[in-house]
Amino acid sequence: MPLQNRQIVLRSRPNGEPTVENFELVTTPVPELSAGQVLVRHHFLSLDPYMRGRMNEGKSYAKPQPLGEVMLGAAVGEVVDSKSDFFKPGDKVLGMGGWQEYSIVDSTQRGMLQKVDPKIPLSAYLGSVGMPGVTAWYGLEKIIHPKSGQTIVVSAASSAVGSVLGQLAKFRGCRAVGIAGGAEKCAYVRDELGFDACIDYREHKDVRSLSQALGAAAPSGIDGYFENVGGVILDAVLTRMNAFGRIALCGLIAGYNGEPIPIQYPQLLLASRLTLEAFIVSEHMEVWPEALRELAEAVATGKLKYRETIAEGIASAPSAFLGMLRGKNFGKQVVKVI
Ligand code: NDP
Repeated sequence: MPLQNRQIVLRSRPNGEPTVENFELVTTPVPELSAGQVLVRHHFLSLDPYMRGRMNEGKSYAKPQPLGEVMLGAAVGEVVDSKSDFFKPGDKVLGMGGWQEYSIVDSTQRGMLQKVDPKIPLSAYLGSVGMPGVTAWYGLEKIIHPKSGQTIVVSAASSAVGSVLGQLAKFRGCRAVGIAGGAEKCAYVRDELGFDACIDYREHKDVRSLSQALGAAAPSGIDGYFENVGGVILDAVLTRMNAFGRIALCGLIAGYNGEPIPIQYPQLLLASRLTLEAFIVSEHMEVWPEALRELAEAVATGKLKYRETIAEGIASAPSAFLGMLRGKNFGKQVVKVI
């Protein structure tokens, strides 16, 4: 009997918040390999907020996820069979294998599969030493341009991206202030990741209250802001930005299910002569090698800390994904497949 591959496909498109009914678990046989192909057994799958955008039909920066096909996404695992001269069984690899137990990769297409350093924990290649880590690095280095002594604020501070952002800001001599949901996440951001302060946005539901908390946490004002969330949080930060401050617009997760998240005080952008620049990390591949060098070394030496929420088994992927969109994850959300 051929090897069986359990996969999660997108069955229907959500209307507002997705549900587990939008996904389906299917089992298909693994086909024989052709020349140049590699069979990868996945160990960990990545669940990322951008996948919510791809579930919609409409225009976005990424193409929609086709219905009936395996959910696309990064995965790390081990080569178990190979018809490639470059990849051998036993190699640990990173690719875009998607939400399934096995993937077949055409190794003749450059960049489809990368060998990773087995000294670094495999799942870290989906977080701090992967796309989320590079996202933080790009926004900080290429948009915020931090200087020692400046104050940098980041929302979703305990998230895969946010946790790296604040630590990199600290490495560069800045004051790092996080905004996160709940006392436990804030304690982690402050006490374990080493941010100078963290504000629980759930305790400050309106702009005025959050602005006051930011005033206390950033007494010299805010020089750089890394935005992951949007809504009230963005408005409150705008009230505390210093003149000529810089905002890296990375994500707006508060609006990913289609809710309107208007900026209430755009006049503050003008009053403080702010620069706001949005970016998509996959459009800046030129920085990845430099960013990954710093991130890999910092993780390998224990200087850069990270945390993961691990869902067990391929079948848990849809519910873990929905939980992540509601902030139930604490650190990088992955699925452990074996
Ligand atoms: P994670 O999946 O690690 O964490 C997401 C966190 O966002 C949740 O834990 C939750 O934390 C917070 N969150 C969720 N919903 C809300 C909400 N309605 N209001 C406030 N906070 C919310 O995220 P990543 O680190 O992978 O991604 C962070 C952001 O970066 C996302 O917006 C994502 O889209 C963006 N991104 C952008 C990229 C780019 O190229 N521009 C690349 C990668 C990511 P809490 O409990 O603290 O609210």
